[in-house]
Amino acid sequence: MQTKKLETWYLQHHLKFAFRQTTDPYRIWVSEIMLQQTQLETVMPYYERFLSLYPDVVALSEAQDEALKKCVEGIGYYRRFMLMKKAAIMIVKDYHGIIPDTYDALLALPGIGLYTAGAMMSIAYHQPYGAVDGNVIRILSRQYNIQEDMRQEKHKHVIRKINQSLIEQANPPDYTQAMMDLGRTICKPKNPLCEQCPIAETCQAYELGIQQTLPFMSKLHSVKEIDYIVLVIFSKDGFVLRKRKASLLEGMYEYPQYESESIQHVINMLDDQGIIIDVIGKAVEMQHVFTHQRWHMHIYQCRLIGQKIDTDWQIYREDEINQLPMATAHRKIRRS
Ligand code: SF4
Repeated sequence: MQTKKLETWYLQHHLKFAFRQTTDPYRIWVSEIMLQQTQLETVMPYYERFLSLYPDVVALSEAQDEALKKCVEGIGYYRRFMLMKKAAIMIVKDYHGIIPDTYDALLALPGIGLYTAGAMMSIAYHQPYGAVDGNVIRILSRQYNIQEDMRQEKHKHVIRKINQSLIEQANPPDYTQAMMDLGRTICKPKNPLCEQCPIAETCQAYELGIQQTLPFMSKLHSVKEIDYIVLVIFSKDGFVLRKRKASLLEGMYEYPQYESESIQHVINMLDDQGIIIDVIGKAVEMQHVFTHQRWHMHIYQCRLIGQKIDTDWQIYREDEINQLPMATAHRKIRRS
């Protein structure tokens, strides 16, 4: 593969986003963490807001958990930001607030894996460390016609080795960002724009006309379907919410929800716990899809009649609810 052609293309065509105009390791860290699980267009407003609230490592290390979650509400995979805060605390404690500039030190920080460490080392510190994500896997498996299953670590490792040899012949920041941009704009998963590709000449999959079939990925286990009864319970002081304890969306607020299809079953269960609710009207059905789960939410508006025991339920006013970090699946539920 001709890295020179790729870099020349990048310098002429690169996407002009704020995080492409900087070599500040903190800003690159923030952008790479956000972009890991989220589309670029979605990330931009979050990126700006995050930096205005937490402009540096020290500010992030001092962030209040709830404010931090609120800042990124709606972007998903919240755990990554809590890990960033943990890493920021370590950087303040162990490195006087300066992000370390060695690969091993970056990898030792919470939430920084091979990809993020490679991106930070190459973009911020101009060192030849590869950052292999889905874009790089797609481009290189097409360039070299690698037909192995890219869900398997051993095959990803082959891609990492190829990528490493390429970045060592290139200008690291330009190469890493060129691969990111090429994967996003030209070598797309479906309908790649091969006629516009700066490295089409060396692409084996293009020559064979099989670019759409690569990379090969074996089927994932199917999405788990879960039914929930969701209770939007109001009292004279506001609505009942609780903080999630499950690892998915941990720490985000939600309406009480129970894995069941039967409202009667939930009413009886609450009754046994000394909580009396009155259901008002019919269920509203909503769905929310995560990577491995699909929630079928049967939502009931309810009135709190009585509560004899302490629970993890708390009552919040409407204006307070708007300020709390809340799972998107529940934020879109209407209170009436
Ligand atoms: S020629 Fe097509 S398939 Fe090959 S790297 Fe370029 S865009 Fe991807």
